[in-house]
Amino acid sequence: MNIPFSPPFIDQSVIDQVLQSLQDKWITTGPKVKALEQEIVELTNSDVAICVNSWTSGAIMMLKWFGVKPGDEVIIPAYTYCATALSVLHCGATPIMVDVSDDFCIDPKKVKKAITSKTKAIIAVDISGWPCNYVELNTIIRESEVINMFTAESEKQQLLGRILLVSDAAHSIGATYNGLASAKMSDITIFSFHAVKNITTAEGGCVCLNLPPRFSALTEYEFLKKYTLNGQSKDALAKSKGGGWRYDILFQGLKINMPDICAAVGLAQIKKYINELLPRRKEIASKYCKGLEQMNWFIKPPLQDDNRETSYHLFPLRIMGISEAQRDQIIDDLAQLGVAANVHFIPMPMLTYFKSIGYKIKDYPVAYKQYSCEISLPIYPQLSDNEIQFVIESVIATVQIQLNKPRKLQPKNRIKEDLKLNILPNFSDYGQQTHI
Ligand SMILES: *Cc1c(COP(=O)(O)O)cnc(C)c1O
Repeated sequence: MNIPFSPPFIDQSVIDQVLQSLQDKWITTGPKVKALEQEIVELTNSDVAICVNSWTSGAIMMLKWFGVKPGDEVIIPAYTYCATALSVLHCGATPIMVDVSDDFCIDPKKVKKAITSKTKAIIAVDISGWPCNYVELNTIIRESEVINMFTAESEKQQLLGRILLVSDAAHSIGATYNGLASAKMSDITIFSFHAVKNITTAEGGCVCLNLPPRFSALTEYEFLKKYTLNGQSKDALAKSKGGGWRYDILFQGLKINMPDICAAVGLAQIKKYINELLPRRKEIASKYCKGLEQMNWFIKPPLQDDNRETSYHLFPLRIMGISEAQRDQIIDDLAQLGVAANVHFIPMPMLTYFKSIGYKIKDYPVAYKQYSCEISLPIYPQLSDNEIQFVIESVIATVQIQLNKPRKLQPKNRIKEDLKLNILPNFSDYGQQTHI
């Protein structure tokens, strides 16, 4: 078997959309981006959606839009991809990292404690597609003592009059909250369309606005579209029309627009997302749960509760009672069997750069606990039932080796022997495909 971790979904409809862009000879921001934005508005019921060239650039733009600057603080979880923190640092502000809960998401109680008069925004991260506790976060930012502490220093801050709630929804397109798209639960929701995400444009992202009605969504949309194009008064399509050459630069924007040729990939995928791609992800997650739930070491990922449902972006398996080193060994053993797994995430305070600027993992015990026993299993629509079954059996076999014999006592070459003994006899169905 050779099961990659997360290959992009590319079928004929994706190829046709990209070909159409090429044949129409319009490859930068234009009709495909417009159509993708429209699809995202429909999927999420957001007021407006602005496509950009990555989650990271979308987050930088929105923090700058809100006026986040040196001396300000933005509260984020310690357990996320580095981009969450870097977007804050790129604005010159300070990321205030707080610990997570057992569901991988930012702990609202710790958010509350971290709020100061310098706090301008909170970026909550929907790890694996599981929406954060937005009901609680929305309550906190509207508490009178929190509102009184808020110091508005820009026009947008004055208009909002409180801390901005941003959702890092890089994983969570299609997730729901109280029957609505979870994007409706934050002022600003940012999706990533990076190559491994549920919907991809190779590289890309999208900013969705669901601001209070005192903001004009249409005015903000038009302003932000210009922001993605150096603050230029006209986009390339408008300039290309006869006589449309003259333009102006209205403010200091960024250059972070999404090209049509990229939007074409996502456009084809999003048309199949709700009826085909997302249901298949859900089905795979259920099969993993069914296949593993009788194991006494299995910790089920958060997938669904009374008001939330994940987007099944990752299947973050956790294994009770294993060390970080044992987890690493299981991933190596899975790789030997042809199953590519991953870890989401290495908490930022464990990474060199964040250590160098003063963050310490000992301050985030829950993040470390989640990380050290976590293995993300392959989950994507192209996985066959046969492959899913193989992943389940491989996980059971490789975990069993670690749980039966503490890793420390095991000479390196014994692992391979154990894999042969414990796994291969169970895998006769897969014949020569098992490369060990
Ligand atoms: C992928 C990811 C990002 C960054 O997305 P880009 O589009 O690559 O900038 C941010 N946050 C999380 C949680 C991610 O997984």
